Amino acid sequence: MAYRVTLIPGDGIGPEVTESTRRVLEATGVAFDWEIAYAGADIMDKYGTPLPESVLDSIRKNRVALKGPITTPVGHGFRSVNVAMRKALDLYACLRPCKLYPGVPSPFKDVDIVMVRENTEDLYAGVEFEKGSDEAAKLAKLITQAKGERVRSDSGFSLKMISETASRRIVHFAFKYARSYGRKKVTAIHKANIMKFSDGLFLAVSREVAQEYPDIEFEDRLVDNMTMQLVKKPYQFDVIVAPNLYGDIISDLCAGLVGGLGVAPGANIGDEIALFEPTHGSAPKYTGQNKTNPMAMMLSGVMMLRHLGEVTAADKLEGAIAEVIAEGKSVTYDLKPETATEPPVGTSQVADAIIKKLAKK
Ligand code: NAD
Repeated sequence: MAYRVTLIPGDGIGPEVTESTRRVLEATGVAFDWEIAYAGADIMDKYGTPLPESVLDSIRKNRVALKGPITTPVGHGFRSVNVAMRKALDLYACLRPCKLYPGVPSPFKDVDIVMVRENTEDLYAGVEFEKGSDEAAKLAKLITQAKGERVRSDSGFSLKMISETASRRIVHFAFKYARSYGRKKVTAIHKANIMKFSDGLFLAVSREVAQEYPDIEFEDRLVDNMTMQLVKKPYQFDVIVAPNLYGDIISDLCAGLVGGLGVAPGANIGDEIALFEPTHGSAPKYTGQNKTNPMAMMLSGVMMLRHLGEVTAADKLEGAIAEVIAEGKSVTYDLKPETATEPPVGTSQVADAIIKKLAKK
């Protein structure tokens, strides 16, 4: 029976990388019945919203979705569709494996890190008070009354909220993931020395939850130290769990360690629903050029296959992608070393090369 999956092409380079991913997934022999759902900047005029309720309904019904990137205009227009989607579907865990495949130009060796990022709160919750607004003035007054702190009258505010509930479930998620995938260690990241009531809470809960998983090693690191450690000795990390904002930044750093956003897959997961999408955004300047790397989205497809229990197909597709990378011929510009003599290929040619490999497996 075919798997019914919601397929969201997104905008910018989204439709190109999505189409290439659809082709390689079908070439694994697993049958899919795609329910195509449109969201993003391109449908604003038609639907009056970048995120029609029908898209969320489709995901709720199918419980599995594969999504291309969606643009968030800076400073104006709609709040991020991606954040809204994660909130509406309570996709509280963002999972981003960062694995270095042989052949990827990188100064590092042996990187195989899985980043688990809390997805629903922290500074990302979008609770903000604009400079000059009545609410900002009220908040400033409250802070002065409650804490004796003077607040500049021209301040804007973004609130950082970290709860015990969300911290507990994300740390459990990280440990359960570590157990299921034979990982040895979980590292929690924070800045608890300074932000005692938000990051401090996250750390306290992490330590408590860790005791329920004695088979998995646990450690914690300050986020600033973590960035340095990651670029000096990335091989010492296995699974990393972090609150939302640090998770966002550190996962891009980890993507950089393994060759960049072109090979960084991801998933947003809740108790009922899993949505797979690359870490990268819509890279608007490359739209329609058949230029960008579809492998991040294809590797997100590999994660989806594993989630569906199609482990053999997942291994086959990951193997085919790894072979194409190792050969270094049919890869996009981001995977070509500076010394390469042959030009890079386009998005759809990467898919062609992977489909050829799959046919031989
Ligand atoms: P981006 O990830 O879109 O692109 C940054 C740069 O990374 C690109 O210019 C390109 O050089 C490189 N890059 C990205 N994807 C690549 C690929 N597949 N192959 C090769 N190179 C690639 O980040 P941005 O420019 O900061 O964001 C653009 C838009 O995407 C913004 O509106 C942002 O909000 C949105 N965004 C969406 C998501 C999502 O849909 N989940 C994630 C991140 C950013």
